[in-house]
Amino acid sequence: MTAHFMVIGNPIAHSKSPMIHQAFANQAGLDIRYARQLCPTDEASFIAVIEAFFNGGGIGANVTVPFKQMAFDYCQKNGELSNNAAAAGAVNTLYYKNEVLIGDNTDGQGLVNHMLSMDWQLTGANIAIIGAGGAARGVILPLIDAGVASITLANRTLVKAQDLIADLRENNATIKAADIQSCETSALTGDFDIIINATSIGLTGDKLPLSDGLTCSKAYDMMYGKSLPFLSHFENKGAVTSDGFGMLLGQAALSFLLWTGFAADVNKAKTALQDPALGDRFWR
Ligand code: NDP
Repeated sequence: MTAHFMVIGNPIAHSKSPMIHQAFANQAGLDIRYARQLCPTDEASFIAVIEAFFNGGGIGANVTVPFKQMAFDYCQKNGELSNNAAAAGAVNTLYYKNEVLIGDNTDGQGLVNHMLSMDWQLTGANIAIIGAGGAARGVILPLIDAGVASITLANRTLVKAQDLIADLRENNATIKAADIQSCETSALTGDFDIIINATSIGLTGDKLPLSDGLTCSKAYDMMYGKSLPFLSHFENKGAVTSDGFGMLLGQAALSFLLWTGFAADVNKAKTALQDPALGDRFWR
């Protein structure tokens, strides 16, 4: 019997999730259908689509922009939240367990798993994160759980970084006990083990105001695809770099594990997705 999954978002046509999950299903020998579900952005429409999906026998749903917070609110009222979802204030994975709707967030652990798969040392590492939006928020607890020594959160709008840290500390004892600082992006300086770009500056051509005194051993951009100015900047300073494609695969693999119990081989899936026969379609 075909197992049904979906990703709900707006826009959604660009989503690579159906192909990624199909690659996992091929490994697992599972018959799946994973749909892209466009939804109007109001809460009533979101709830109607989610309820229709699960009432119709759907097994699991991914949630993307702009619905991650709505999914969080919905699970808070009608189900349960994982620790990572509670800390992130956002849900990217929905499923039923023992007839209870579970909202999880696999984005941050997906990033951690990707870094560990590249042998990037997280235990005792000093990390800088640039950006204080939803993506930054979602990675903070998984990084602390992975054993990092400190996190410096830098943002264009300093008060947003400060508010984010205050909110996380208030709601999570692990984060409260951790060494987390904040500063403006242009004031971020010193040598870090890893610097993560969690801004949405992306491929706009705009450049972050990075100080000359800012260096790192490793630089990670949550964006993926074409050449990323943030990564070139640190490559020129001798750092090892990575884009966020592995994070995308990592969060998907964790969702697939929660839904099916199958631990997909992310590297094998990456190879399958980069097969020239599929590649054009995948990157379009
Ligand atoms: P948000 O909109 O929540 O946050 C955007 C952040 O970027 C803010 O901190 C904002 O600063 C900063 N920013 C935006 N434009 C600029 C600019 N021109 N200069 C400096 N700072 C800027 O976005 P998300 O947190 O949801 O996403 C951030 C990125 O992470 C996106 O590129 C997204 O695609 C990527 N991502 C990747 C994932 C993956 O699996 N690889 C998963 C999730 C996200 P300010 O507060 O000052 O406005």
